[in-house]
Amino acid sequence: MNDREYLYAFLKLSQEEKESLMVSEAERRRTFTAHWPIETIVKANDCAKEGFYYTGVADRVQCAFCGGIVRNWERGDVPKLQHKNFFNYCRMVQSECHMKLLYLEYYRVTYMEY
Ligand SMILES: [Zn+2]
Repeated sequence: MNDREYLYAFLKLSQEEKESLMVSEAERRRTFTAHWPIETIVKANDCAKEGFYYTGVADRVQCAFCGGIVRNWERGDVPKLQHKNFFNYCRMVQSECHMKLLYLEYYRVTYMEY
């Protein structure tokens, strides 16, 4: 199955099926490969890394974890920040905040307490 066939097959899935498949970053990256019209404005890889997959419509991407949709991308937009600003409740966004807290705690325990 080539990338375009993959995208067409993907678009026929139900929303639930899409979201369970798109938990994988590699699968998300594949939705962009066939057709992502604005690679020069926003990098597909940055979107995929942030939890977004391509919906196949215009420049619309959707998060596999919160269902949030981002569109009308402009030059200089950063997927990570868009995600955080619009869908702060998303567990992808939350888990990153959590990792930062863990790191700070690790740093504190390792370097400050002696
Ligand atoms: Zn999300």
